[in-house]
Amino acid sequence: MDELTSIADMRTWSRERLKAGTRVAFVPTMGALHQGHLSLVEKARTLADEVVVSIYVNPTQFDNPEDLAKYPKTLEADLELCRAAGAAAVWTPDSAEMYPDGYCTFVEVVGPLTDKLCAVARPGHFRGVCTVVTKLLAVVRPDVAVFGQKDLQQALVISRMNGDLNLGTEIVVAPTVRDPDGLAMSSRNKRLTPAMRAKALGLPRGLELARRAYRAGQITSLKLIEIVAEELLVEEGVDMDYCDVVSLKGFAEAEHADDACVLAAAVFVDGVRLIDHVPLAGAAIPVKAD
Ligand code: AMP
Repeated sequence: MDELTSIADMRTWSRERLKAGTRVAFVPTMGALHQGHLSLVEKARTLADEVVVSIYVNPTQFDNPEDLAKYPKTLEADLELCRAAGAAAVWTPDSAEMYPDGYCTFVEVVGPLTDKLCAVARPGHFRGVCTVVTKLLAVVRPDVAVFGQKDLQQALVISRMNGDLNLGTEIVVAPTVRDPDGLAMSSRNKRLTPAMRAKALGLPRGLELARRAYRAGQITSLKLIEIVAEELLVEEGVDMDYCDVVSLKGFAEAEHADDACVLAAAVFVDGVRLIDHVPLAGAAIPVKAD
């Protein structure tokens, strides 16, 4: 497995593949890798000859300096996991090169995709995500890039940006990987103590109970949101950042849910921010709800 740091080395690596007619898939990450990330690498391997993983904690997508400072970093373990998962290369760009002095160019998606949910809760977040993903794609120039459905709004924003800017990479979205208790895997889970994790389980449980209520005929969004709130707000140290029913048709908030809707929520568990969502017409989340 090749380990690359500079933009020039990454570019050379990609140019060689392009010349040889080798199809390249790309999995951008912020490291602290877990099975969710590795499932994207596995998917990427089915879509191309060689897979590049990038590991870069992008400062421009953090609105909160403390969150950035506390973001887990496990580079040696990450490299081992990438090697074992069959990645051909790992690129670890550094901020001095990504955002040199005088850097002043940003990419922004406007409209319904970025006026709700995480966009409101984390001002400037998607501008940072779009900027870094554009820069990463410009260097790697992959045939295909794989993103996780776990970050649904991010995947939709990136797909839109990729199309609007004619970046020419195929964007593939792969399913959310969960732990057996139902919690969506996340690098931030590394910051949860067992007691915090027990509280965090209210998130997938609430979403699953709401999904069941929808399937049983409850279509009033406010009621579905209440079900999630009831599972979470009973716990001390848990705050709801947002919880909304959003239609994937137009990405609009829906007063009444239908099969095109997802229920999405973000919570703070003793200061650690977790997000999750459930498609209301989708499969059950495996939780202990009974
Ligand atoms: P991150 O390192 O959190 O920026 O995530 C890098 C990529 O992995 C993004 O496309 C995420 O959506 C994806 N990802 C993170 N967690 C999961 C998960 N539990 N299941 C599937 N994909 C995930």
